Amino acid sequence: MSDSIHPASTSFTDAANIKPDDYERLYRESVEDNAGFWGRIGERLEWFTKPTRIKDVSYAVEDFRIRWYEDGELNVSVNCIDRHLGERGDKTAIIWEGDDPADSRRISYRELHAEVCKLANALRNLGVKRGDRVTLYLPMIPETAYAMLACTRIGAVHSVVFGGFSPDAIAGRIADCGSKLVITADEGLRGGKKVPLKKNVDEALTRAGTNCVETVLVVKRTGGAVDMQMPRDRWYEAVVDGQPEACEPERMGAEDPLFILYTSGSTGQPKGVLHTTGGYLVYASYTHECIFDLKEDDVYWCTADVGWVTGHSYLLYGPLANGATTVMFEGVPNHPDIGRFWDVVDKHGVTLFYTAPTAIRALMREGEEPVRKRSRKSLRLLGSVGEPINPEAWRWYHEVVGDSRCPIVDTWWQTETGGILITPLPGAIPQKPGSATKPFFGIQPAIVDAEGNTKDGATEGNLVILDSWPGQMRTVFGDHQRFIDTYFKTYPGRYFTGDGCRRDEDGYYWITGRVDDVINVSGHRIGTAEVESALVAHEKVAEAAVVGCPHDIKGQGIYAYVTLNAGEEPSDELRKELVQWVRKEIGPIATPDHLQWAPGLPKTRSGKIMRRILRKIAENAPDQLGDTSTLADPGVVNSLLEGRMNR
Ligand code: ATP
Ligand code: MG
Repeated sequence: MSDSIHPASTSFTDAANIKPDDYERLYRESVEDNAGFWGRIGERLEWFTKPTRIKDVSYAVEDFRIRWYEDGELNVSVNCIDRHLGERGDKTAIIWEGDDPADSRRISYRELHAEVCKLANALRNLGVKRGDRVTLYLPMIPETAYAMLACTRIGAVHSVVFGGFSPDAIAGRIADCGSKLVITADEGLRGGKKVPLKKNVDEALTRAGTNCVETVLVVKRTGGAVDMQMPRDRWYEAVVDGQPEACEPERMGAEDPLFILYTSGSTGQPKGVLHTTGGYLVYASYTHECIFDLKEDDVYWCTADVGWVTGHSYLLYGPLANGATTVMFEGVPNHPDIGRFWDVVDKHGVTLFYTAPTAIRALMREGEEPVRKRSRKSLRLLGSVGEPINPEAWRWYHEVVGDSRCPIVDTWWQTETGGILITPLPGAIPQKPGSATKPFFGIQPAIVDAEGNTKDGATEGNLVILDSWPGQMRTVFGDHQRFIDTYFKTYPGRYFTGDGCRRDEDGYYWITGRVDDVINVSGHRIGTAEVESALVAHEKVAEAAVVGCPHDIKGQGIYAYVTLNAGEEPSDELRKELVQWVRKEIGPIATPDHLQWAPGLPKTRSGKIMRRILRKIAENAPDQLGDTSTLADPGVVNSLLEGRMNR
């Protein structure tokens, strides 16, 4: 139903970084001589000591190691800032767009250098040393970028905790990595509402395991009243003031830890993913340049929060390592109104735009008008990440947002992978709506059955990756065994992604949903993505989530939750119509057994649907919801439990 093919326009292709003929050739080279390929790509960075040992990898459980550029030495902040000062000193590094549309700022690479050095000096004075962990609980403000980069300058390991998390979630993450210092702000500002960040940190620090924290730095964002506990709490401004605008960078080993980041928690307890210095930066910067077709004059905007991996790799580190101009947005898509994204695009002349399906579906729900009212003529490429993008949402993004002019990169990756693994290269790989298309250079995906047998050709099964890439995570912080058990035990010798996947006749990859979420109806495996996309393809449906539920005859039945477009009313006729619609679109086997109206869906703070919770609601087992600390709106769960009766 969705196999239409969209090649990029010739004007895009002619100027593309990776041309149509380059992909197959470069891909073959990258796989045949993997270490040679990444050795050459590694030269894009500035190294204090150039690496000679490029790759040392074994996925065998008894002899496990992942090492890239092992004997190289470098510093991430030098690569993201200092080396651009000669040619790009006055170029804008960060365009900051505040929550209030009247509030924006441009920060040049030179200013960024000064701010990062001042903070790095201040952190050193406060006793932060190489290897120490620093937790950042901050809004989307320039100081957040300064803080991440300042940590890298002195070799401290940052752990960014999303500014929407509760005191318990912060405490758990601080205790897990033993942070010595926390950087926060008085309050955050999102959609005109204040978020009590410092107060949440104060509460977090009363919890068990958080007495590792010696200092809390507080950025003044709103000027709201906060309770400063001396001598622990210090104003950011005061400690940075008067510091020298230069700071000697640490010489870091390529395999030294760079940051810890906890996964979104869609499937359970978040994991403290650890990334290291050299391989991560090579991978983030190279993928960013190829996949977003980055050019010197581009204005690049990734809407992700820095609390997620996308905000690390493709808001901050990738773009800055490439000397790009990156937009950082403090606000939300519907403030002051639903056209905000496109206002920001027009205001700053954004050329490359990267967002998530959850945002696209939310905007789509409100119709075309707010989009059409804005020009958007600067846009030349669109990107999507975080969940499978339903073909219907893809088409809307392409036709309405991109005026059918912009290629779309549907990028599949994970916190664990550090960077994008499966994606179109926009000038080289024609897109199919809903498919992440082909592997990036050096990436060898394979599809296996439950026993681990490789399945060739057009097929469906579980997605594994056969060999390492420089941006791969190295361990779960403090629990290396959990790392090996989670990712390398299920299918020995291969990295298990946890995602289900289909490969079509053209060798295109389609993510079908999480393996844990696959529904087994009378022996037929049904991925969640396909049924959800069929529902979203109906003109009245905004969003859908599908899970399995116990069924006496079929083993599992299909339980669908449906959110309607703005202005549509639920009715029994519409329910019947939608059930028939899915039956017609996919086939009788996929006919939903239950269809429940959902005013909202339980999502992680990063906007992903949490199907494991929906499964428990379908089973009417509210006492078995598991870890809900990463839920964006816990209230949704109760309203769905109540709505369950009426289905
Ligand atoms: P946890 O691992 O804690 O359960 P999570 O998997 O949601 O949380 P992330 O690392 O943020 O944490 O998300 C990665 C997952 O998001 C992928 O495994 C995949 O399921 C989904 N995903 C990301 N991008 C895409 C995409 N373009 N298409 C389909 N799925 C995607
Ligand atoms: Mg995951």
